[in-house]
Amino acid sequence: MDDILHLDLAGVSKQRPIVIAGPCSAETEEQVLATATDLASSGIKIFRAGIWKPRTKPGGFEGVGEPGLRWLQRVKEETGMYIATEVANSHHVEAALKAGVDIMWLGARTSANPFAVQEIADAIAGTDTTVLVKNPINPDLELWIGALQRIYNAGIRRIGAIHRGFSAYGKHLYRNLPQWHIPIELRRRLPQLQLFCDPSHIGGKRELIAPLSQQAMDLGFDGLIVESHCDPDCAWSDKSQQVTPEVLSYILNMLVVRDTQSTTESLAILRRQIDTIDNELIELLARRMRVSRDIGQYKKEHNIQVLQAGRYDDVLRSRMKLAEQLDMSGEFMKTVYQAIHEESVRQQIEVLNNRKR
Ligand code: PEP
Ligand code: MN
Repeated sequence: MDDILHLDLAGVSKQRPIVIAGPCSAETEEQVLATATDLASSGIKIFRAGIWKPRTKPGGFEGVGEPGLRWLQRVKEETGMYIATEVANSHHVEAALKAGVDIMWLGARTSANPFAVQEIADAIAGTDTTVLVKNPINPDLELWIGALQRIYNAGIRRIGAIHRGFSAYGKHLYRNLPQWHIPIELRRRLPQLQLFCDPSHIGGKRELIAPLSQQAMDLGFDGLIVESHCDPDCAWSDKSQQVTPEVLSYILNMLVVRDTQSTTESLAILRRQIDTIDNELIELLARRMRVSRDIGQYKKEHNIQVLQAGRYDDVLRSRMKLAEQLDMSGEFMKTVYQAIHEESVRQQIEVLNNRKR
């Protein structure tokens, strides 16, 4: 996919971040136009609104459907903004094409379903529309790339990816975990693909939009897609993660966007990627140590000795083999696992001696 092109929209292509903003859902003609007018006057050039809304459970607001496209057309006519909406099947694509939608995006639930992606790709084939593909809800980079490939194979060249975080069971700070290493790996695999971050759906909370947007800029993302509503508290969907156009403008003005063209900044971006990955690595190690302590507790209760040579040998061998499969040296992994094992044993002995529990 070496010939993927950047978005080609007059007046926005060279900006970083490229900002796409608008309500989660188009609700009424008045809400759409009021929001768009305010966004346009603060300099936003691309308007988003969901017309067809995939909802987790039945009974919620599932979007206004096709009549909403006419409202988007009015936005285009009256503000000059480009218009973007989510498509989830071939009927949506046909209606959006007819209405002159500039950018279509595939939602996270759609990207996770190859049949749906293929149906959309077939409907889009032969047009020169711009398509953004959100990551699938599950953290599966290959599935994300597969969805991008299906769109590419339909002849579409202006393709971008949107990182909107990944579903996880239970309660977390984020609505959808960022798992930054996944979009970072996507960038490594497809360097020419423009990357957008959706801080609204990652954070799920208004106050997380600014820090997540900053982090996306620091990691070299090209754009942001942010939910903005003229009256967020009364939004019909996703109200806790939408901000007014005025607040959005404030957030964007506060962003520190460094010039990625300079070699030192490219280096800084790579270093920030390393920092992010290291944080995740250390959190994983801490999780592993907590499990070790649980094992220590179990061994204590069942009178089993801490050190079991056979198990240690299996761990070392299997990790060395895996490392080699992933193009690292087995000897390097042996050194790493000797250190991890040593700390793990130390933690278990601490449990055994009851010093911390
Ligand atoms: C949206 O952008 O409003 C949306 C439904 O997002 P996602 O597909 O990321 O859940
Ligand atoms: Mn939403």
